[in-house]
Amino acid sequence: MKIAVYPGSFDPITNGHLDILRRSLKVFDQVILLLATNGAKKGRFSVEEKLSMMKEATSDIPGVIVDSYDGLTVDYCLNHDAKSIIRGLRAVTDFEYEFQLAAANHFVNPDVDMVFFMASSQTTFISSSTVDELERNGADISSLVPPCVARAYSQKK
Ligand code: ADP
Repeated sequence: MKIAVYPGSFDPITNGHLDILRRSLKVFDQVILLLATNGAKKGRFSVEEKLSMMKEATSDIPGVIVDSYDGLTVDYCLNHDAKSIIRGLRAVTDFEYEFQLAAANHFVNPDVDMVFFMASSQTTFISSSTVDELERNGADISSLVPPCVARAYSQKK
């Protein structure tokens, strides 16, 4: 069975993440959607809120497991029999960051490879921070995020 890990901040999970996730499941049998909880970023949503939205948004997608980890993704991969880390690429700016990340991961464990999916044209402008910015300024974000995220925003008010 081919297992991959798709790590991220998912703060919150968006239709951009879900697009990458669905497409990665055409290549892998099982994808672990992994909430990285050790990043320097201060979250908009709590770990519990993020995990609950990730679970609800993926409940109808076969082959997905949602988990969180406070450590290096490559170490998580080793413990879960995964040889690939999935990431998405939007603009050239993503490339710069992901290129460095790939080199760092390779340094830690050369057996784990990063696999990249290009953003789809319909979702390429979606990021968690853009969604948050739009929402805070009154834009309708319901077509950019799964329903549970739109609901979480409306409940925060
Ligand atoms: P991180 O803080 O680790 O970058 P994110 O949750 O922001 O976590 O993103 C996780 C991964 O998903 C990254 O590889 C990012 O480039 C990718 N991603 C996020 N939004 C999109 C999108 N709209 N299209 C394609 N990839 C995306």
